[in-house]
Amino acid sequence: MNLLFVASECAPFVKTGGLADVVGALPKVLATHGINVRILLPAYRQLADQVKTGKVELKINNLFGGAAEVISARAEGLELLLLHAPHLYDRAGGIYQDEDGQDWDDNHLRFGALSFVGAKLALEGIGDWRADIVHAHDWQAGLVAAYMHQNANKGTRKRTAKKTKDNSHQAAKHRPPSVLTIHNIAFQGLFDGEIRKKLGLWEELFTPEGVEYYGKVGFLKAGIGLSDKITTVSPTYAQELMWPEFGMGLEGLLQSRRGDLTGILNGIDLDIWDPQSDKLIAANYSARKMSGKKKNRQQIEKRFGLAKKGNGPLFCVISRLTTQKGLDLLLEAIPQLVGHGGKLALLGSGEKWLEKGFVEAANRNKGSVGVIIGYDEPLSHLMQAGSDAILIPSRFEPCGLTQLYGLRYGTLPVVARTGGLADTVIDANEAALAMNCATGVQFSPVTTGALVQAIIKTCNLYKDTKTWKKMITRAMQQQVSWDRSADTYSKLYLDLAQTGNTNKK
Ligand code: ADP
Repeated sequence: MNLLFVASECAPFVKTGGLADVVGALPKVLATHGINVRILLPAYRQLADQVKTGKVELKINNLFGGAAEVISARAEGLELLLLHAPHLYDRAGGIYQDEDGQDWDDNHLRFGALSFVGAKLALEGIGDWRADIVHAHDWQAGLVAAYMHQNANKGTRKRTAKKTKDNSHQAAKHRPPSVLTIHNIAFQGLFDGEIRKKLGLWEELFTPEGVEYYGKVGFLKAGIGLSDKITTVSPTYAQELMWPEFGMGLEGLLQSRRGDLTGILNGIDLDIWDPQSDKLIAANYSARKMSGKKKNRQQIEKRFGLAKKGNGPLFCVISRLTTQKGLDLLLEAIPQLVGHGGKLALLGSGEKWLEKGFVEAANRNKGSVGVIIGYDEPLSHLMQAGSDAILIPSRFEPCGLTQLYGLRYGTLPVVARTGGLADTVIDANEAALAMNCATGVQFSPVTTGALVQAIIKTCNLYKDTKTWKKMITRAMQQQVSWDRSADTYSKLYLDLAQTGNTNKK
């Protein structure tokens, strides 16, 4: 079976968050299920520099204002299709934002183009290669289903309105079934209604059933309405998405599509994230032989300027610094964390007021709190390896990957009970401890008070060396790889390939 992924990120080449990890890891495990995936990605400047390209598969004279090509490439065991459109992607700065942190003002064209080309490849194939299913990821690929719908019906449109002499209608083209995965509903790709024309979207699609969202064009909304199946990245988040607190305005639409919505947990790529073989850490270790963890801790202490003395746990945070991640709560909880003997190493970037708040907290708590503002992949590995616990106080968390890395590295997750965090961490409550199945600490509601209680509980558990060790062993034994979910994805694809388009809109 052949699959076309359409996505805006893919690890290890270009990454701003968990989406990239998923797009880079899932195809490798699907290959072991006989599913061949090709990934269509924009050829951003930083990506083009990293991979050797092969054959030109498609040329487009004018893709929203400039010439474009799709070029195939193989790298890191992945089959890539790079969308070269220099007017859209070849520029300095971030993949979504300029150097000042402002969204590129042509993002609608940049990701409209990605979706347009995804739909074209899905409908027309690449040489002899045909996609049995097209799988779009997040809002950046949200218009794939809309363009497929539109382009499959090209030629039938005018004739339906104005019947031809012989009354015949040109048949719609074969349209492979489509899947959309919502990695985070907070990012919806909402743009002014005027852009519809620039994107060449038919007026007929500018309806509440199609791409329109209260007068705007909604990329993610269109994908939810028009794809055959919708997935998200954990069972709990799939439920939460249908509630107003989490659905961010799309809960009604998602409720109407509940029969086609599934939550499938993300996994982690053990080629990249395994303390026994990780090349980015100071010393390798395993559940049986944990001594390497100490060496990693020493490196963290050096990098973050933390004192060696003290007998409390070292907490880490590796995160975008946003209110979604609940890091404002952590900022308020720092005096308690330090007061109970804990230390904190934080790596992240994001909202300026949070960056500033954490830098100031580090200055106030020298030796106990260390902060590095920025994005540093190797350092994130070292932190997972050398810390005792990882803090994730998210207000919502579709799946979350850092708690999964934490489990694998014996760095116990302390998490808010929401989304994928609720699905993957077993709270150290009395029953779980008695049954020796606890793998971390969960707290709810997501408030500073509850977070402080969770931190205190973690500090106490850490002092109980025997229990702490048992929890680490349990955590490291958890099934966190993609094997857990690959079966579910392949079943979804196989069923869909058999039933064909189920969304008749
Ligand atoms: P999200 O996608 O919402 O940001 P996830 O937990 O799903 O959150 O994925 C975040 C990914 O990005 C993880 O692989 C994490 O290690 C990585 N990450 C986040 N911030 C940083 C950072 N400052 N430096 C290095 N890696 C980071």
